[in-house]
Amino acid sequence: MSPASGEAPVFVVQRHDASRLHFDVRLEVEGALVSWAVPKGPSLDPRDKRLAVRVEDHALDHAHFEGRIGEGTVIVWDTGTYENVTEKDGRPIDMAAALEAGHVKVVLSGHRLTGAFALTRTSMGGDEKNWILVKVDDDAADRRHELTSTETGSVLSGRTNEDLADESS
Ligand code: MN
Repeated sequence: MSPASGEAPVFVVQRHDASRLHFDVRLEVEGALVSWAVPKGPSLDPRDKRLAVRVEDHALDHAHFEGRIGEGTVIVWDTGTYENVTEKDGRPIDMAAALEAGHVKVVLSGHRLTGAFALTRTSMGGDEKNWILVKVDDDAADRRHELTSTETGSVLSGRTNEDLADESS
């Protein structure tokens, strides 16, 4: 997939069952997928601060990939489009500037994730790769529903990581 210019950029959250289960959160920026590995996955509860480790960018055509990677499996846990609403000093800034500044705010329009989320770089552990993913408190916030435990299948195919592991074994 490679959305035509002018269309809203894509986001995807892939559930990656590898040596350790994690969720890969990816945002389309300038033709690539800027990516974070989130061990506990996104939460709709604004009180939850989820560690998000910046990992290497991926090619856009990885966005809707489902299948095996090595010993692990990947499904598309959520996908849709996003809007960059990051501001700095009260003015909108583009995604490249937001990433450089270490603070990104996006409004997601997905199947499971909607509303605003913030990603903020921390100095935690003295590692520049560590960011925190948090739900912004808006109408889409939900303090009761732990989405990552109730929703485990792909929004594209309905398959689970276990289905993929079984198919290819
Ligand atoms: Mn991964």
